[in-house]
Amino acid sequence: MQILNYINGELLAPKSGNFLDNYEPATGKVYGTIPDSDSEDIDLAVQAAKNAFPNWANCGNETRAEWLFKIAEGIQKHFQEFAAAESRDNGKPITLAQKVDIPRAISNFEFYAKAITQYHSSSHSMEGKAINYTLRQAMGVVGCISPWNLPLYLFSWKIAPALAAGNTVVAKPSEITPATAFLLSKVCIEIGLPPGVLNIVHGSGGSTGTAIVSHPNIKAISFTGGTATGEKIASIAAPKFKKLSLELGGKNPNIIFADCDYEKMLTTTVLSSFSNQGQICLCGSRIFVERSIYEKFKKDFVDRVSLLVPGDPSDSATKMGAVVSKSHMEKILSYIEIAKNEGGTILTGGKQRFVGGRCENGWFVEPTVIEGLSYDCRTNQEEIFGPVVTIMPFDTEEEVLKFANSTRYGLAAILWTNNLLRTHRLAELLECGILWVNCWLVRDLRTPFGGVKDSGVGREGGFEALDFFTEPKNVCIYFGNN
Ligand code: NAD
Repeated sequence: MQILNYINGELLAPKSGNFLDNYEPATGKVYGTIPDSDSEDIDLAVQAAKNAFPNWANCGNETRAEWLFKIAEGIQKHFQEFAAAESRDNGKPITLAQKVDIPRAISNFEFYAKAITQYHSSSHSMEGKAINYTLRQAMGVVGCISPWNLPLYLFSWKIAPALAAGNTVVAKPSEITPATAFLLSKVCIEIGLPPGVLNIVHGSGGSTGTAIVSHPNIKAISFTGGTATGEKIASIAAPKFKKLSLELGGKNPNIIFADCDYEKMLTTTVLSSFSNQGQICLCGSRIFVERSIYEKFKKDFVDRVSLLVPGDPSDSATKMGAVVSKSHMEKILSYIEIAKNEGGTILTGGKQRFVGGRCENGWFVEPTVIEGLSYDCRTNQEEIFGPVVTIMPFDTEEEVLKFANSTRYGLAAILWTNNLLRTHRLAELLECGILWVNCWLVRDLRTPFGGVKDSGVGREGGFEALDFFTEPKNVCIYFGNN
């Protein structure tokens, strides 16, 4: 698969002629190339987006909504191709791409097609004297940069609200998982999306990403990725006074009280620990269990996790696929060594997994459960972003709150309890942007999505994203007598 940039409605090679290799994680082999774009390509894309902006911003909400519905239909039409490409490019099980990634990308476009027709602004009356109303206007050209873990799902989560609000877009998917963004550009060509409205430019973060972030005509940057990258982006964009939305790393606590619905908790905790090989920013990687059920949980959890055997992601029976890259696999394995050195005991997993056949050189890691670590050790403080969780007992609410809030991150938290008062108490005190009580990953797209502390700045989702991608302008009309 030779991937090309999508600029001004056309598929183009990068000006430099440079390409990067694209790997299949399950086999460890190169299976295609992607453009290694630089500032020349970004200049072209920004110019195309600038030219397209006036017509797109002024064509009306209903018309933009129709285009977003057409994109959603275009993805639906090629559903199996998208799901297969996502699984091959990322290493995730094909069934996960079919059940989660691609349906969610379709929903993102449909949701913002509907949302923009319901979007409204505020008015403030100064009785008898003046009325203020707030216009919400498209900003111009905006930049969207996304990571590799949920490639099309997170890419579309940015592009859809940006386009719905009337902006034109220069977007960059992760260079590690570019395939479905390329298929999206083909859909845009197929449906005849006006040239320049959406431009998809491929390449590395240092080259393509930096060119987007530093471009003077890009007014806002919506970024999802690691905290260290977020820092770099902020250091370039903030002095240029660009609007910034940063969705960054996490180290989410999963807090389990003895009064929970045990079976439901156990089943969901396996998912919240290891879905997508633990490579979801919302996974609960620190599991805190009330001491009275700790030993029972430990046995039952380890039994269930031991049944999760990594296998070929293209096989529909596979529940656990490959991790995304060789270097990421090595990072995960190095954290398992750190955990051992910190005194942790590996209860299951702990090693690279060798899967035979076409996957003999693939990058697989066994689902790993570790106990015996303190809440403040490196393993429990740093983001591993792989199939590795720690389990730890606690005695009181105060103690688990201290453990849970002890990291620099504050993206999501999971709480299992049937105690109503405790639920409300902890909901107020847990430092996170998203709290799931007695569930995980239940998503209503209208709700604010994002984190506190070093997990990010700003919120995506619902009207929050439309607020981000518009500039408010207050108009004050005076009608008083003096
Ligand atoms: P990453 O930060 O390495 O890369 C993310 C994107 O940024 C990629 O497209 C990359 O090419 C680009 N990039 C890298 N350096 C750049 C630079 N200097 N300037 C501009 N762009 C640059 O992250 P990743 O490894 O792809 O993804 C994993 C991380 O993403 C994890 O930390 C995870 O927690 C986080 N994540 C967060 C959320 C959330 O909603 N908060 C969701 C998913 C993933």
